Amino acid sequence: MYAGGGNLIVLLGPPGAGKGTQAVRLSATLGIPAISTGEMLRRECESGSVLGKVVQDVLNSGQLVSDDLMNRVIASRLRECDCENGCILDGYPRTVSQARFLDRLLKEANLPRPIVFDFQVETDEVVERLNMRGRTDDKPRTIRERLKVYRQNASKLVRYYSGKQYYRIRAGGTPEEVSGTLLRILSCQPALRSRTAVPSYSVQTA
Ligand code: ADP
Repeated sequence: MYAGGGNLIVLLGPPGAGKGTQAVRLSATLGIPAISTGEMLRRECESGSVLGKVVQDVLNSGQLVSDDLMNRVIASRLRECDCENGCILDGYPRTVSQARFLDRLLKEANLPRPIVFDFQVETDEVVERLNMRGRTDDKPRTIRERLKVYRQNASKLVRYYSGKQYYRIRAGGTPEEVSGTLLRILSCQPALRSRTAVPSYSVQTA
């Protein structure tokens, strides 16, 4: 179970903004797991389970899986022991209802709120990256739908998180540049500063 040591990091941003890449990089640097809800759902689909078949239809449509299902998946994942020192959430929360659920979960366990990074990237760049990626839900129509669904939720989520350890990140640079920005901000967080394994970075305000 996530026990409040280290950090619970949330990555927000449109599909194709590079959240997955940064989650993996942060995971390697900080030694905490990267949890991608999209990945978890795709694994369920590949398993051929009844739930997987239902989820596959949702993924193909570009719509979101229900909050209730996602909340249960995350609550159970955070209870696993590899999350003890924190984790990186890539793709969750995606709606205000999910964000509220996560806050409630943390509050009930007396744990601090997550640190939220919101990846900012131009739509043209995002579409280009997704077209190159070629995942089964990266078909032009599904991409358009996913971006639409993202925009429908994004402003409300931003409003929800504003003023609560919320950082807007310019994500159009190279993976190294973006990681550098994230680590500089994280190095100012008390939980992380106390972890000796992590090098300290000087913070420049963007
Ligand atoms: P991307 O961010 O590139 O769209 P993801 O791998 O994060 O890709 O998500 C793929 C799909 O999985 C989404 O389009 C959505 O259908 C589903 N999904 C992932 N995370 C969530 C979530 N937190 N809530 C609802 N649906 C989700």
